Amino acid sequence: MNVCVLASFMYDLVATTPTRPQPGQTVIGTSFQTFVGGKGFNQAVAARRAGADVSVIGRLGDDPFGEEFRAFLHSEGIGAEHVLADAGSGTGVGLPLVETGGQNSIVIVPRANLHVNRHDVAAASNAIVSADVLLVQLELPMETVLAAVRLAHGAGVRVVLNPAPYATLPRDLLAMVDVIVPNEGELRQLAGAGASDPIEQVAIDFWRGRRGALVVTLGEHGVLVLDGDVPVERVPAVAVAAVDTIGAGDTFCGNLGARLAAGDDLRTAVTVANAAAALSVQRHGGAPAAPHADETAEVLAHSGAAAIQD
Ligand code: ADP
Repeated sequence: MNVCVLASFMYDLVATTPTRPQPGQTVIGTSFQTFVGGKGFNQAVAARRAGADVSVIGRLGDDPFGEEFRAFLHSEGIGAEHVLADAGSGTGVGLPLVETGGQNSIVIVPRANLHVNRHDVAAASNAIVSADVLLVQLELPMETVLAAVRLAHGAGVRVVLNPAPYATLPRDLLAMVDVIVPNEGELRQLAGAGASDPIEQVAIDFWRGRRGALVVTLGEHGVLVLDGDVPVERVPAVAVAAVDTIGAGDTFCGNLGARLAAGDDLRTAVTVANAAAALSVQRHGGAPAAPHADETAEVLAHSGAAAIQD
């Protein structure tokens, strides 16, 4: 049960303010918090807590943010042997501005993440080819993602792609992906669909003629699964009172990767990931909100869904 994550790391510096500053203006904020984040990092933590052995490939700066990430990875038991210290640029940062009225805006400076390259991937090839699942997102350079996916695909390692944030996908990338996991907005962009097109039809049209499976996350509306002969199946979300849905997709993808690596069929893995993501939206924060396998198993036991088998 081995998952390799090609991972981005973003250190979030979150300021809360009553109003957004206008050009040239300074406003006094009301609170400040920091979080370790980044889609890849969050997914690695979620996969580890779901019970997988996890190794990550990526770059951190040689700075206090990088040290904080390394300490977190270590405390979670995630292999960081292939996380390089980038001497030339700092750890990636995100600067979200949260207005008390609820509006958010964010500046992301990827820094070290931009330098993860195909040589890093080649140096970590052991971690990729010995994994059961390679988990990738699109916060790293596309050329690097392609190199990792090519290596995994060539070695018969299952590739799970979370196409987030949205980017145009090279045709040969999609041809090597076993499970693609967009959210609704990403699928509409990938498919070139309008906002009012029925999402099930968009999914069917996008998936037709492709290899592998399509899993579309629909927030509180659950998940669509397109796989094999069954044209489209909807898995309802677990009904919960959500307090923070940021990072729900990351918890979902990490759990999906972990359960596929453990040998679950896709439908079972989706059911587990759906329950894990429902737990995470009831908690604040990104990676720290990811549940452990026993918590997810309890939700599944109560919802009467498929039990987790090891
Ligand atoms: P993203 O975080 O990428 O935008 P989604 O919003 O689609 O992804 O959420 C991912 C998954 O998290 C959903 O498919 C579902 O399983 C779970 N989820 C998200 N929001 C809720 C919610 N309000 N209640 C229950 N589950 C949720």
